[in-house]
Amino acid sequence: MSFDPYRAYEHVKNLAYPRFTGTEGEQKARKYIVSTLKKYGYEVREEAFEVYTYEIEKAEFEVIEPFREKVECAGVGFTGCTPEEGVEADLKYIEDGGRRFWPRGEGHILLLATSVNLELYKDLMKLKPAAIVSTEESPARKPSHVEIPYEWKRHGTCPMIKITYDACFRLVRSGAKRARVVLLQREFKTTSYNIIAEKAGSKYPDEIILLCAHYDSVYGVVGALDNAGGTAILLELARISSEIDTKRTVRLAFFAAEELGLRGSLAYTEQHKDELEKIKLVVNFDVHGASIGKTSVIATGPENMKSYIEALSKELGIRANVAHDIMSSDGTPFADKGVPALNIFRSTGRGVYAHTVDDDLRYIGPEGFLAPGLLAESFIRRMVFAEEIPFKREIPENIKKKIDEYFEKRLGIREKKGVGKTYLYTLDYNKG
Ligand SMILES: [Zn+2]
Repeated sequence: MSFDPYRAYEHVKNLAYPRFTGTEGEQKARKYIVSTLKKYGYEVREEAFEVYTYEIEKAEFEVIEPFREKVECAGVGFTGCTPEEGVEADLKYIEDGGRRFWPRGEGHILLLATSVNLELYKDLMKLKPAAIVSTEESPARKPSHVEIPYEWKRHGTCPMIKITYDACFRLVRSGAKRARVVLLQREFKTTSYNIIAEKAGSKYPDEIILLCAHYDSVYGVVGALDNAGGTAILLELARISSEIDTKRTVRLAFFAAEELGLRGSLAYTEQHKDELEKIKLVVNFDVHGASIGKTSVIATGPENMKSYIEALSKELGIRANVAHDIMSSDGTPFADKGVPALNIFRSTGRGVYAHTVDDDLRYIGPEGFLAPGLLAESFIRRMVFAEEIPFKREIPENIKKKIDEYFEKRLGIREKKGVGKTYLYTLDYNKG
């Protein structure tokens, strides 16, 4: 009846294909999760929400002068298209995008040593580039398969691609000065589904412990660690919950479209805003299964949540990294509404491959699920059996500030309307 790492590993193997929003892989994963939950005796709800997504049709990068060379690249979603034949222009290396490096005039292909945050993005739009080439900061990584949050479009668009650290180094050192970029992509609206199942509590049915993991991957990437692994842990916890009598209600949420900016969990907190009061605690699983790795926890809630987990880890003989912070994942929209969220994940090692094609089954094994599974199960059992949850349902001021910064400055997806705050998951990107 206790957590079985081999079952979790089997689930990962059944989810090891790209599961990007709006693709067949996403549907296939949804079917697998739904049928597995039904097998465990759950009634399953598939809760629809609308979301913008994209498909990269062509991404090419070629140096033209003073030599010709094709360079490996990946297109960045929601950054628009070049003409079919691409754009050819002078290549200008602008390092971190600081003003010292800005070129005179417009229409360059800008080569950056970094990835692009919202602040830098707004600056780059002022330079009216022909295209932007952004570089992986870690030399270990293949080009990321990512997108800009679609709300950034209100600041302008420009076709953007990602290249490796080594490619950028070569271009800078060899004095590449003219290049061509082709980026063709289709952006479209689709319907995605959060998958919800529940086991009612026998003593405190109106108090919900929500366990969640996102089942989507980034574009065209298997996403074995991120997050077939977390989905697998959650399915195994679903099996355990189905077999025990719990005092509190256990709700399982498999969120969609996390990689596009937490769209599934944002939709959920909006669609369920009238019953959020019942949700006492969230436990989120994102990035799991690496054979060689470290069990890590981020407590987004009262300070004593962190000490509780530290004490529990010690009791279990697990050396977990425990932080009191926020995580860029599905627990954060709940914390934003005042619900404490505990994020359990696997860090170090192959985690460096997140969002690249190297995040596949090669580095996953049952041993990777052992410690996180044990910690998760022990923690959840305590929470569902406890006569009283040992932490307050509140978010400290310093954490609230980080959450605000995350949504406003980093993702740039929060719109302020009067006193309230509304998320733009509802698709107004042209009006936003
Ligand atoms: Zn993830």
